[in-house]
Amino acid sequence: MTRLTFLGTGGGRFATIYQLRSTGGMYLEDGASIHVDPGPSAAWSLARLDMDPADTDAVLISHGHPDHYGDAEIIIEGMTRGGLIHRGALYGSRSVIDGAGGIGPAISNYHRSLVKEVGLVEPGSRFSVGNIDVQATFTDHSDPTGVGFRFNTINGMVSYVSDTQPHPRLAKEHQGSRALVLAITRPRDQRVRCHLCTEDAVDLIRSVKPEIVILSHMGVRMIREGPEKEAKWLEDRTGVRCHAADDGDVVTLGNDISISRGHPILNE
Ligand SMILES: [Zn+2]
Repeated sequence: MTRLTFLGTGGGRFATIYQLRSTGGMYLEDGASIHVDPGPSAAWSLARLDMDPADTDAVLISHGHPDHYGDAEIIIEGMTRGGLIHRGALYGSRSVIDGAGGIGPAISNYHRSLVKEVGLVEPGSRFSVGNIDVQATFTDHSDPTGVGFRFNTINGMVSYVSDTQPHPRLAKEHQGSRALVLAITRPRDQRVRCHLCTEDAVDLIRSVKPEIVILSHMGVRMIREGPEKEAKWLEDRTGVRCHAADDGDVVTLGNDISISRGHPILNE
């Protein structure tokens, strides 16, 4: 089984500042364990779900905005058992690893030194974590060095599109995906530059035709508007199963794709 745990489903500046939802990112388990975009409250969310940061094999950071990396150094300390064992990997965009265009670097030299492998990734970069082959994908965002990721798991491809505005290249990058995780920051009629709103997702979903779309990284307006309503609207328009994730939701990929709903403590 391949498991995707949504530690946090909030994103964008104000949902993060006020923690309307956790912003702890996504955790992929498929033999190896990968923490993707551990934003603020990632460590808190792992603790509430009885998950141990020490089990993490790699931390992946798509770009240099703090809602995507705020807790990354703490997770790296966990992955390296308090910094005592030289292990694990860190992969991130140029802004995250080296700093670029006034953004980042996001990780201190000390925390980089704790990790066995540090990789700077660009769209098209490939690497593996255990048995999981990963490819960095293109995004069109206010961090121009940002990336998304596609994970080639034992149960098919999982796509993490990350922060981006619509771009024809996105559909090509994520062809063949079974589970398409979209950062839908805004609801319908509230488009904002550099991000996806609900309408923006329609063409992408129709073109990729995944088995499931999972909405995450929701901003204040999206959360207030009601993400389930937006997911239903998308599902009606595209004919593809769409799920608005809650903090603590677990999506399991086997022959079928199942969802177990959020953790009560994370959704108080
Ligand atoms: Zn961003």
